[in-house]
Amino acid sequence: MRAAIARHYGQPLQIEDVPTPKPTRGEVLVEVIACGVCHSDVHAVDGDWIPQSTLPLIPGHEVVGRIADIGNDVIGFEHGDLVGIPWLYSACGECSVCIAGMESICPSAEATGYTRPGGFAEFVVADPRFVARLPLGCDPISMAPILCAGVTSYRALRRSGAQSGEWVAIIGIGGLGHLAVQYARSMGLRVAAIDVDAAKLDLALRLGAEVAIDARDARDAAEVSPAFRSIGGVHAAIITATSRAAFESAPALVRPGGTIVYVGMPGGAGDIINTSVAAIVGGELNVRGSSVGTRDDLGAAVACAVDATVRSEVTEVPFDQVNEALDGLRQATTVGRTVLRIGH
Ligand code: NAD
Ligand code: ZN
Ligand code: ZN
Repeated sequence: MRAAIARHYGQPLQIEDVPTPKPTRGEVLVEVIACGVCHSDVHAVDGDWIPQSTLPLIPGHEVVGRIADIGNDVIGFEHGDLVGIPWLYSACGECSVCIAGMESICPSAEATGYTRPGGFAEFVVADPRFVARLPLGCDPISMAPILCAGVTSYRALRRSGAQSGEWVAIIGIGGLGHLAVQYARSMGLRVAAIDVDAAKLDLALRLGAEVAIDARDARDAAEVSPAFRSIGGVHAAIITATSRAAFESAPALVRPGGTIVYVGMPGGAGDIINTSVAAIVGGELNVRGSSVGTRDDLGAAVACAVDATVRSEVTEVPFDQVNEALDGLRQATTVGRTVLRIGH
């Protein structure tokens, strides 16, 4: 099969012919149709997160494909079934974290396209207990981003605790953020969108944001936008941006008692931020992390895409443009999500 492989951090992926994997007991083999390109793939390839990805690596964790082979002891799947493979390749199911319903942060979790081979390939092995079942009629290209950007946005909004009618700031309107705007609207939330790119802010307004703020104009967005000032601060801010400045500005946007959800992970030197303890204590702010999503989150995120409550804004490109797709994220020129067409 053809696969895009990282052998050294920070180098372009090489598309190589490698042996097609075989599913062992409890595994399925999926023939990949489409795979979205997430900013986390950039971090996996560049090696700027701790712990680093496992090299050599086939990245890709927004996978849509068909069941092509079924290992022993797998029940409930047939050849040709359409499935999605998320970042959460598997979790142990037995530790206290899993039992408490937080399987996406299981200490023994495996990650598709990070610790396990991912979907930038014609075939990929998956754990059938963790794949999403997709209706045969759905469009694989527009479904692919839901497998990470969608489920992650959905869980972050749930973790924000924001209630219908309240305001949420989505900071970073990229692959995750443009879906977060839509999930927020579907939950009845009012959305203020913040980015550093006019095209992304235009997209957010088209998708239902009421306020769009260019962070480049803002030392403090609350100071700059009269609309934002009239809100009196948002109830929750979801940070999907890839720069530390976005994290440092968030406490100024949130009203007293509000919640900041960290989702983006700038990596490298951007991982350490300067933030005011007094702002957090004095405002009784809640600061929470949110990591991808559980199977329950994934089912809900997929359902919204199936019934078209949420639609990914996608640019479809051929498999051999995978490095250009990663560069689009590095240079922040990608609007919506780029999805690799790998099969049919
Ligand atoms: P993306 O590149 O598509 O989007 C990032 C957006 O942030 C871009 O629109 C960019 O213009 C914007 N941005 C950059 N600096 C900004 C600033 N100072 N203020 C406001 N906006 C700014 O990336 P993505 O695929 O959406 O991923 C975003 C981040 O989330 C990455 O770090 C990725 O690794 C991480 N991520 C985390 C999880 C998780 O489970 N927590 C899951 C997926 C991705
Ligand atoms: Zn991702
Ligand atoms: Zn566990």
